[in-house]
Amino acid sequence: MSRACVFLDRDGVINEKPPRGEYVTRWQDFRILPAAVDWIRLFNALDLLVVVVTNQRGVALGLMTEADLEDIHRRMLDSLSAAGARIDRIYYCAHHADSCECRKPQPGMVLRAQSELDIDLARSIMIGDSDIDEELARRSGLKFVRADEGRVTAVAGRGVPGAEP
Ligand SMILES: [Mg+2]
Ligand SMILES: [Zn+2]
Repeated sequence: MSRACVFLDRDGVINEKPPRGEYVTRWQDFRILPAAVDWIRLFNALDLLVVVVTNQRGVALGLMTEADLEDIHRRMLDSLSAAGARIDRIYYCAHHADSCECRKPQPGMVLRAQSELDIDLARSIMIGDSDIDEELARRSGLKFVRADEGRVTAVAGRGVPGAEP
């Protein structure tokens, strides 16, 4: 039977967002948000799939290699796993804008996950910190939850009382 999945953006959701226009290119600069660890533990306990979908154009721009990016992801998975939080799969787009079908908000990564992991998109959600993530959710038929540095600020387009949008 198809499973429900929580799709997570990376920067600004799992780890502290780098300054605008900058990229996290080294593990030393990767700061995991404690709230994200708790969320993922809960998703695991509910037997939801947890899949990361992230645009990492820094590779196309030559700021890091694909091996650097994969090294960061390996350490991220290890670090989360040591804290009892499991991510099932990471998909990234390392391409320039307008050169592929996977760069968010295009749904390429979500559709690939759907077919590889047998996901029921109608029962799944996307958690992201940007309008691009919201647009991806809209195009993929996912419910959207907006988060900002460890706080949920809106669910399915509705602001959360007391949260700064
Ligand atoms: Mg982000
Ligand atoms: Zn791409």
